[in-house]
Amino acid sequence: MSLPPCIRFLRDYVAIPSVNPMRRDDVPAEIAYERRYATHLREQLRGLGLDAELVGEGERTSVVAQASVRGARDTVLVASHLDTVPVDGMEIDPFDPRIEEGRLYGRGSCDTKSGMAAAVAALASVLERGTLARNVVLVGEADEECGSVGVRDVLARLGTRLPDWVLATEPTELHIVTAHKGIALVRLAAHGVSCHSSEPRNGRNAITAIARAVLALDSLGNEIGTRQHPKLGRPTLSVGLIGGGQAANIVPREAWLVSDRRLLPGEDEQHVRDELRGALARHEVADVTIESCVVEKPALETPDDAPAVRVCQEALARLSLPLEPTTAAFSTDAGLFAQAGVPGVVFGPGSIAQAHTAREFVELAQVERATEFFVRLFACS
Ligand SMILES: [Zn+2]
Repeated sequence: MSLPPCIRFLRDYVAIPSVNPMRRDDVPAEIAYERRYATHLREQLRGLGLDAELVGEGERTSVVAQASVRGARDTVLVASHLDTVPVDGMEIDPFDPRIEEGRLYGRGSCDTKSGMAAAVAALASVLERGTLARNVVLVGEADEECGSVGVRDVLARLGTRLPDWVLATEPTELHIVTAHKGIALVRLAAHGVSCHSSEPRNGRNAITAIARAVLALDSLGNEIGTRQHPKLGRPTLSVGLIGGGQAANIVPREAWLVSDRRLLPGEDEQHVRDELRGALARHEVADVTIESCVVEKPALETPDDAPAVRVCQEALARLSLPLEPTTAAFSTDAGLFAQAGVPGVVFGPGSIAQAHTAREFVELAQVERATEFFVRLFACS
């Protein structure tokens, strides 16, 4: 059976481990980080005649490649993250891509190596035919799943040479996504005074303090849940991790929690901090401070009539794919590019229902359709 280039590329990419350790230290070195995949892409893109280079430190490598044409209609940056989530508990061999019944199985097959395979195959085809009509900056960015260091490295390399718009590949089942929430992670720390548990009044219990903070956050979550965005619904706040104490017979000095805050457009780090401070004060929570508050991904909200949306719709229309812009429940690197002043959309083959799963797969037909989309997008045809 002869496979189309997009599927052959996808098979090659899935076979190259690029696991994001997600701040864990038990992921084996031979499957961790993005450097192997980034290097493979650099060589492949150079083979197509592109100016391709690696950016970033150590194993946390991203790739940036440029294809330019005289009289270009505009410059699009296609960003397809290189990292995958870890492979613990997978029920298939994560790095031995298998094709069965019209699907390709393996870690990253859906999220989002199929998006990269479609973009690269399309670019190869358009360059071979000499029909490139817009400048393309093809980016494979590291660390999308955790800290987003890749986008920061790529933006630093681009400097002031920013593209007109960005398309981030993620599994959207070939729908054009123009809005999603952002993510902030907040860590609160409680500092008490430790003593023997037989005389607890001699100390100040940090776990009791953090427990009061949990209740304050729960109530804050209900309050912000009354806000409503016309497309994205409500912002959320959820306490996901908690810890503290040393032993049952010691009144604890330290305790902490980590909370996940999903952001609406316009909600930034300062907004989240102010809101938290207000909630802790209203509930008279003592001994608790905001240790960190990091916006991992800003929200995305691109107007439905933005040029980025219209040119994607032109390509979708020629393939008889749905034109209606939609939203995603997950966050993407398009939010970070938007924050840097580059409007963007999210589009790609595969379903988020298969991303990160024990039997991750992508439908081959969707990868081929996505490739046709990119051909039309790059050639304006
Ligand atoms: Zn993804």
